[in-house]
Amino acid sequence: MNLHEYQGKEILASFGVRIQRGIVAQNAKEAVEAAKQLTAETGTGWHVIKAQVHAGGRGKGGGVKLAKNLKEVEEIANQIIGMNLITPQTSAEGKKVHQVLVAEDVYYPGESETSEFYMSVVLNRATGKNMIMYSTEGGMDIEEVAESTPHLIFTEEIDPATGLLGFQARKIAFNLGLSGTAFKEMTKFVASLYKAYVESDSNMFEINPVLKTSDDLIMAVDAKVSIDDNALYRRKKYADMRDLREENAIEVEAREVGLNYVDLDGNVGCMVNGAGLAMATMDLIKMAGGEPANFLDVGGTADAKRVEEAFRIILKDPNVKAILINIFGGIVRCDRVAQGIVDAYKNMGDSIKVPIIVRLQGTNAELAKEIIDNSGLAVQSAVQFQEAADKVKAVLA
Ligand code: GDP
Ligand code: MN
Repeated sequence: MNLHEYQGKEILASFGVRIQRGIVAQNAKEAVEAAKQLTAETGTGWHVIKAQVHAGGRGKGGGVKLAKNLKEVEEIANQIIGMNLITPQTSAEGKKVHQVLVAEDVYYPGESETSEFYMSVVLNRATGKNMIMYSTEGGMDIEEVAESTPHLIFTEEIDPATGLLGFQARKIAFNLGLSGTAFKEMTKFVASLYKAYVESDSNMFEINPVLKTSDDLIMAVDAKVSIDDNALYRRKKYADMRDLREENAIEVEAREVGLNYVDLDGNVGCMVNGAGLAMATMDLIKMAGGEPANFLDVGGTADAKRVEEAFRIILKDPNVKAILINIFGGIVRCDRVAQGIVDAYKNMGDSIKVPIIVRLQGTNAELAKEIIDNSGLAVQSAVQFQEAADKVKAVLA
C-alpha cells in the first residue's frame, strides 16, 4: 500500500528521522493557515507547496512550487489543488490533486552549500537481505542516474538478523563525502530511517532528496513509502492511512468483496483459482497472442456467488474482449464450479457480451465439461491447457 509524502514523513518523524516540516491542507484557506503556523514554529517566511498524489516527479509537472509570502501561498495552493497533475510517473491523463503539503523552505542560504542526496531502503529478494541504496546524485531522476552513471549509486546490504551496524552507517556518510556535523547527522539519519523501514513493515522507503542544509542538518525533503499489504492487519495505524482516491477503482471494489485482483493493460480477462495457476494462465494468454487484462485469484471457494462477483469485476474493464476461466478442482469439485459459472451467467443476463472460454481440470472435470456444453450458453469449454489457449487465439482472431 502506497502512502502520500506527508504520511511517509509522519512515520519518519515518529522514528526520530529529521524531516522538512509541513502541514497538509485541503484548500487555499487552510494552506494560508498552515503557512502561518509553520512560520510561528520555524521562523521561515518562505514555504513550498507540494501536491499530494501517489506519483513521483511532481516537481517536473508543476506540482511543487516555492511561495515567498502568504499571497503566493494562496495563489499557488489555488493553482495546484484541483489540477490534473501530469508527471513522468502518471498516465497521460495525470492525477487529480485533492490536497497539498505546505512545507517550510529548507533551502535557505547559510554557512555552507546545500546538497541533495538519494537514499532508499528496500528488500533485496535475491539475497534475502535489506538494502540501502544511496547516491550523491539526489533530487533528480534516479532511474536516469542508474542508466547513465551507475557507478554513482552505492548499495549497502543489511542482514536482518544483526540489523544495521554502526560501521555501515559511517561508511554511507563517508561515501556521500560528508564530514563534521553533517557526517554525524547522516549516521543518525541512516540509523533512524532503517529503523522506520523495519518497524513499519514496509517494502520501500525512498527519500529523494535527502538534504544537507546550509547549517549541516540532514533531513528528508521527500518520502515515498510503501507498506507491505500482508502486514497491514497488525499495523492498523498505517492501514488507516489508505487513500482510496489514489487507487484503481476496480481494484478497490474487488478488495471489498475479498477478491485478489490486479488491473492490467491487456484484453483477455482471467478468472483463476490459485496465484501460481493465475500466473501460468497469464503466460498462456500471452503465448496465444493476447494480453492479460487482469490478474484474478478467486481463491479456494469458487461457488456461484463468487464466480458472479468475479465476472462483474472483470467486466468493469472496457478493454476486455474475452474471458478465460481456468480453475483447478482440488478442494472444490469442477462440476460445482461449472454450475456456478452457468448460474452466474444466467443471473447476469445480457451484461456479458464477450466470449468465454472455460477450462476446468481436476475432480469431476468431464462432468463439468458436460454441464458447460449442455447449458446452451455461449461458453466454450476446454479440458487441456493447450486447447484453452487455441480457443483464446481463435476468439481474438
Ligand atoms: P518530486 O518531484 O515528486 O520528487 O517532489 P520533491 O518533494 O522531491 O520535490 C521536488 C524538488 O523541489 C526537490 O528536488 C527540490 O529541488 C525542490 N524543493 C523541495 N523542497 C524545497 C524547499 O523547501 N525549498 C526549495 N527552494 N526547493 C524545494
Ligand atoms: Mn522527490
